[in-house]
Formats: sequence, structure tokens, C-alpha cells
Amino acid sequence: MTAYTGRFAPTPSGPLHAGSLTAAVISWLDARSRHGRWHLRIDDVDPPRTVAGAADDILRTLEAYGLGWDGPVIRQSEREPAHREGLARLEARDRVFACACSRQEVAAAGLAGLEGPIYPGTCRPGIPAGRKGRSIRLRADQQHWTVTDRGLGPIGFDLHLLGGDFVIRRADGVFAYQLATVVDDIALGVTDVVRGIDLLGSVPRQLQLYQALGHPPPRYLHHPVVIAASRLKLAKSTGAVPAPRERPAALLARILNTIGIPGIDPGFGGSEPGAIDDLLEHGRRHWNPERLPAGPIPEARLRPPG
Ligand SMILES: [Zn+2]
Repeated sequence: MTAYTGRFAPTPSGPLHAGSLTAAVISWLDARSRHGRWHLRIDDVDPPRTVAGAADDILRTLEAYGLGWDGPVIRQSEREPAHREGLARLEARDRVFACACSRQEVAAAGLAGLEGPIYPGTCRPGIPAGRKGRSIRLRADQQHWTVTDRGLGPIGFDLHLLGGDFVIRRADGVFAYQLATVVDDIALGVTDVVRGIDLLGSVPRQLQLYQALGHPPPRYLHHPVVIAASRLKLAKSTGAVPAPRERPAALLARILNTIGIPGIDPGFGGSEPGAIDDLLEHGRRHWNPERLPAGPIPEARLRPPG
């Protein structure tokens, strides 16, 4: 049995809903079926996306669904010293540079990438005369990356087409998601990153960060996300409602049924005592990422029948 450490890292922008709860269940099952550790980290590094009270609400919902975590809850906003240390390490290894460019200037260079404009490399050789550094970028030293995702199989990425040299500390001084995530995952000893396929594009940036920090990368498992009737990812903005904390076994049964756990009645009423623990134990024994649906999960499948 190989050592396994996983984590669930929600952004506290609102309560858990059927989509984010499904992600938590998948992440928990993958860790617990391997007798691994499972940490909870609140990714509140970006103040504008953080809603007061949402983190505590997420904790209460995870508890209601029996998804216990190991160790203390980690708040990314309290990890700034570690993020600074990570940046200092990248500076010492000569992997970063200060960038004076505004978003508009990068866009004006006219290099279209897969997720927006490609950084044209303006400040790579040094900040142009008369300009001041605003953000800090990591050099995208390696263009092509491959990873064997545990769910999707081998995948290739072109980091240049995904934007090239990327910001790790923003002009407002906030550490970017990629740096905070990689530094915190290394600190936790995360061996397996399990998350929604909508985050697949961050893989090559994170692999480049691991390489620049001189640390081996984790294994990855990207799973399908729950979508609203609009076919957009389920979120507050697409009509998601908070996952109920009363009679949670009913929704848990529908989630387990949907993610490929055999022998679960999706019409389960869920009021029996101990139902949550029984369902999770059954799920843990039968979890197999190869049985995940091949495409997105319509939210309607997670609604009560009838
Ligand atoms: Zn620049």
C-alpha cells in the first residue's frame, strides 16, 4: 500500500452545493479507499472571492455528510509566510522575474492563447528603462508537458499556448492561486490531487512550479463536474442551492450512485440512523475512479426523484 495524502480545497465563496459536495465526496473516497490522509484547506487567498461565514458553513456541511478530515483546518490566508518563502526559493534558483506590464499591454501584443493572451516576454531580459515592476512571473522554461492523469490517461500540454510565463505574485501583492496551491500542497505532503476537470489547464503551470522548486509533482485525478441545465458548471451564478444539512443521506446516495458506486438506490430516503456512515463505508469499499461518468454530470441527476 503506497502512502497517500489528499486534500479538499474549497474556495469560501458560498455554501457547498451539489457540485462542490460531489467533488468533496470523490476526493474523500479516493483518499479513504487508499487508507490515506485527507486534509481540508480553505483557499481564501483571494479576498474579493471570500464571503464572510462561508468557510464555517462549508465545515458544517462536510460534517453533516460524514466527510471527516485529518488535522487542523488550514486557511490559505494564514499561509503568507510560507508563500513568501516559496517565492524566495524561486528567486534563489533564478526562476522568476519582475514584470512591469499591465493586462492591457499583454493583450495588446496580440498573441492569442488557449485561455487568453500569451505573455510576449517583454520583461524577461529585465524591466524596460523607466518602468517599474508590478507583478512577479515564473519563467515557463519548459514548453511541453505530459502527465498521466489517473482518470483521463496520458495528456499533453503546451504551456506556451496556455499563456507562457505566468504571474505568481499579482500587482496587488496577492500570491496567485498556482503558487499558493503548490507551496501548500508540498507543505501538506500531498501525493494525490483530486479535483474537477475545469482545473485541468492549471496542470502544466503547477508542474512547472514543482520543477522550479525542485520537488516531485503529485499524481492527478481530474473528475467530471456537475453542470446546470444551461450546461455551465454548477455554481451560485448558475442557480446552485446550498446542499441540505437535514437528512443528508438522501443526497449522498444520489451522489454515490452518480459517480459509479454500485448497489446504491438513488431513491434512498435517508432517514435511518447511521445511514451516512453505512453509505460512506459502502462507497469506500467500492470506489473505482474508472467508473466515473465520462462526461459532465447534469445537476438534475442529483435532485430528489419525482
Ligand atoms: Zn512584463
